[in-house]
Amino acid sequence: MIDMHCHLDLYSDVGEIVDGLEANGTYVLAVTTTPKAYIGNIERFGSLKRVRIAVGLHPELVGQRFEELPDLLRLIGATKYVGEVGIDGGREHAASFQQQVTVFSEVLRRCRSLGGRLISIHSRLASDTVLECLTDVGHVGEPILHWYGGSEYEISYAAQIGCWFSVGPGMLTNRRGARVAEAIPLDRILLETDGPFGTVGNMVLKPWDSGQAISQLAEIKGVSREKIRSTILENFKILSNKIQRMSIERRRKTA
Ligand code: MN
Repeated sequence: MIDMHCHLDLYSDVGEIVDGLEANGTYVLAVTTTPKAYIGNIERFGSLKRVRIAVGLHPELVGQRFEELPDLLRLIGATKYVGEVGIDGGREHAASFQQQVTVFSEVLRRCRSLGGRLISIHSRLASDTVLECLTDVGHVGEPILHWYGGSEYEISYAAQIGCWFSVGPGMLTNRRGARVAEAIPLDRILLETDGPFGTVGNMVLKPWDSGQAISQLAEIKGVSREKIRSTILENFKILSNKIQRMSIERRRKTA
C-alpha cells in the first residue's frame, strides 16, 4: 500500500509504526512540519527502504517560524520531496495569512528553479489562493493537493494544471470529502492517511490503512475495487517515474 501524506514522526509509538511498515510493505511519503523536523526525520527514517522524507513548513506554523524560510529553501535543494507546505485560510491563522502566501510562493519558485519537486500541499479554506499561487509560478513539478476541499470547478481546474490529489479514509468518511472525491478524475487520485491526525471513528489511521480508501472510492465512483486499486497503482507508477527524472541540485549551488 501507499501513503502519500503521513506524519511518521508524530505517532505516539513510532517504533511500532516502523515495524508495521516493514511487515506491510508500505510506501510512505513522510511529510514534516519544520525544516528541523526534516533533519530529524532523515536521521530516524532515512535508511528505510520504502520511506521518502519531504521537507516542509506547515502553514499553521508559519506565523511562529517565518524566519525558518531560508532553511526550508536551502533544504529543498537537497531533496526531491517537499511538504507539508501550503496555505491555511482558517480564522485562527488569519494573522499569518500574508506570511503564508510569501512562504508558499517562495517554495514554489524554488521548486520551479530547481526543475521541479514533488510537493504535498495543504489548502484548507484557501483553495483559491493555493491555485492562484500554483498558476502564477507555473511549472513547479508534481503538486499533490492533500485532503482537498475545493469546489467542483476548482478540482477540474487543478487537474488541468497538473495537480494530483491524495485522499484517505478520514476524508472519505465525511460527506463533503466524498463529494470532493466524486469529482476528482480517477487518473489523478493517490492515497494518504494524514496519520496520526487522520482518523476513522476513534481509530488513528496507520500508513497501511490508506487502502481502506479503495472500497470507499469504489462505492463513491461506482466502479469496482479492482479498477480503483489498479488505477491508483498506475498513478503511483507514473508519478514515481516523473520523480526519478527530477534532479537534485548539488549542495554547493544552493548555498
Ligand atoms: Mn498533514
